[in-house]
Amino acid sequence: MPLTPLRTFLLLSTLAATVTLPIPSAHCSQTADTAETATLVTTPSRLSNGSPCLLTIHLRSAATTVTAKWQSHPVLFFASPDRSTWYAIAGVDVAATPGNYPITIEAHLQDGTHQTLHRDIAVTAAPYAKVTLTVPDKFVQPDAESQKIIAADQLIKDKAFASSAPKPEWTGDFLPPLKQAPRSDSFGTQRIFNGTLASVHRGLDYRAAPGTPVAAINSGRVILAQPLFFEGGCVVIDHGLGLMSVYMHLSKIDVTVGETVSRGHIIARSGATGRATGPHLHLGVRWQGSYLDPAKLFELSLPQPR
Ligand SMILES: [Zn+2]
Repeated sequence: MPLTPLRTFLLLSTLAATVTLPIPSAHCSQTADTAETATLVTTPSRLSNGSPCLLTIHLRSAATTVTAKWQSHPVLFFASPDRSTWYAIAGVDVAATPGNYPITIEAHLQDGTHQTLHRDIAVTAAPYAKVTLTVPDKFVQPDAESQKIIAADQLIKDKAFASSAPKPEWTGDFLPPLKQAPRSDSFGTQRIFNGTLASVHRGLDYRAAPGTPVAAINSGRVILAQPLFFEGGCVVIDHGLGLMSVYMHLSKIDVTVGETVSRGHIIARSGATGRATGPHLHLGVRWQGSYLDPAKLFELSLPQPR
């Protein structure tokens, strides 16, 4: 039996200068005449800790599967209609250390050949601030009963986060969850609670009066909808391929687990429940366990999944 040819492709790093997808069509003229060349585009071109990104790989011909690993996470791609261009949403955790993170992408082409691409993706340091906050002591030094609730909450969250739809559930670009509420620049801040507990803020806070309608930032399936100790009223939506959105401190939840919601659907009302310093909506974006800046996700122009 002949061996499958293994070809390491020349990898051209075409960097997108803007947040728009530079080569939106399925056909890639840059690689059309160069059988051995594939192109990987990272949008945006410069990443820092907390950045979401769109990875676009243009292959010389149609592929049956494209798989990748980055920062020890599986990167799950979806195909253009002709299957020669593949896309994935990925990102760098807010707490990641700056440096070069190699990615390995493997494509199985329809002609039976197998390609492997390697590239280093640079991650720089984002300039996140330090802030001090005051919350009730029970959230900093939980008593024994609270610790039991916290442990039970962790199991609930682990179960919810454990699986994601195998295909994109989103439709079009991601949109903010509140229409006119001002958003803070709180993502990534290092926070000192009550002078002692330090944590990194893994989401974006919107100032909102209690009872403000909260919209799903994109389509997906509700995988958690209940009160939790730190999060307060909490909803998590799975958008597929490892991407999820998390809404916290809600005063009222209008959806149930298993429900499918569309982008802009009102899923809850904002509040000040859980570990909150006052009424606001906390929005988290989670990719394969990493927390990403929601504001930067809203800036990404995404290809339409089919
Ligand atoms: Zn928050």
